[in-house]
Amino acid sequence: MENTKEVLIIKYGEIALRGKNRYIYENMLIDAVRKNLTGCGDFWVHKEQGRFVVEWNSGADFGRAIPLVARIFGITSVCVAIKLAGQDFDDIKDVALAYARQHCKTPTTFKVDTRRANKQFPLRSDETSGLVGEHLLNNMEGLKVKLSAPEFTLKIEIRNSVYIYSTDVEVKGLGGLPPGSAGRGVLLLSGGIDSPVAGWLAAKRGIGLTAVYFHSPPYTSERAKEKVVDLARQLSQFGGKFKLMVVPFTDIQLKLVDRTPPEKITIMLKRSMLRIAEKVAAKEKALALVTGDSVGQVASQTLHSLHAMTGAANLPILRPVACFDKHEIIAIAQKIETFDISIRPYDDCCTLFLPKHPETKPKLSIIQSIEGSINELDGLMERAITESEIIKF
Ligand code: ATP
Ligand code: MG
Repeated sequence: MENTKEVLIIKYGEIALRGKNRYIYENMLIDAVRKNLTGCGDFWVHKEQGRFVVEWNSGADFGRAIPLVARIFGITSVCVAIKLAGQDFDDIKDVALAYARQHCKTPTTFKVDTRRANKQFPLRSDETSGLVGEHLLNNMEGLKVKLSAPEFTLKIEIRNSVYIYSTDVEVKGLGGLPPGSAGRGVLLLSGGIDSPVAGWLAAKRGIGLTAVYFHSPPYTSERAKEKVVDLARQLSQFGGKFKLMVVPFTDIQLKLVDRTPPEKITIMLKRSMLRIAEKVAAKEKALALVTGDSVGQVASQTLHSLHAMTGAANLPILRPVACFDKHEIIAIAQKIETFDISIRPYDDCCTLFLPKHPETKPKLSIIQSIEGSINELDGLMERAITESEIIKF
């Protein structure tokens, strides 16, 4: 139709965005939308009183764009709507009729639901709904009005512009809070199944992430690193700024292997990872660490082993999957499309030099005294951070 255009309407959780930081969070969400749509043609995004609208100058590919936007935390729904050039009521009626003819399978029950944010518009919401509904009834066969739970709901939103769509075409978002709105965390991201899921769950609550991966070349391959880079890229799609630091870990690992009884090496490695992550957190102004630890999964993940990590870092450590069963973690990994990447057969550094019999009940005091005796550790850690490779998504 003339004077109309297809656009994307994005709704977001308004409750999460109440209060004085509302504009900051809205801007974070808009940035995340822009980022995810990069490469999706010539578009721009603007605010419309509680909505975002994405318009294309040309080359809109809604099939591609919608899932990219719907996966951003804090967004509640996305849909294609018709935007009218003006606010003329006869035009609204005509466009509504054309839209209903195209999208509504008759015979069916229906209602028109109007929301008038622009109070300059001369008709009230209920008047608009009534008159447009009447226009549809007069011009289409097989329609019957039903105000509660109809099969077809035509939405009219009167804002700076007028938008028309139906609830049928709305794609629901994942819920959660806007990316970064809760502050930053440092995610210890290995190539496994658990830590990407842990990162996703943390991001769901609005935690912006800097991921760190401990890489031990030549003992861990370039492929193992690529796998983590791919996982980080996949996680970055759920919104906001995402950074991966690849920390060279070989020297630290060799030093620890040299100075630790073999059955304690796993705990010692993990503690060093937490210590480095905490140093990174200070630079990133992050307030928490996030790991994929899960209680009781393998010998190295008993409650005793977790206890033996005590004091390695002072920041709060979030372990979002700690109490999930493996199959529950896998179900999420499949949903967020990290599973197929995680099962690529390249080991990370924790599986190196693994003892035949790792200790299942390590004692914190003994671990701490070994750690304290390795004077070179701090310097090695600082150097590892300085020599890290940084990849931004
Ligand atoms: P995942 O499936 O996440 O690899 P996992 O079940 O293999 O976890 P562990 O190897 O014991 O468990 O690791 C526990 C957590 O320690 C990981 O979830 C991750 O947060 C962190 N971690 C382990 N190895 C590394 C690494 N090379 N780089 C970054 N973090 C790591
Ligand atoms: Mg692992």
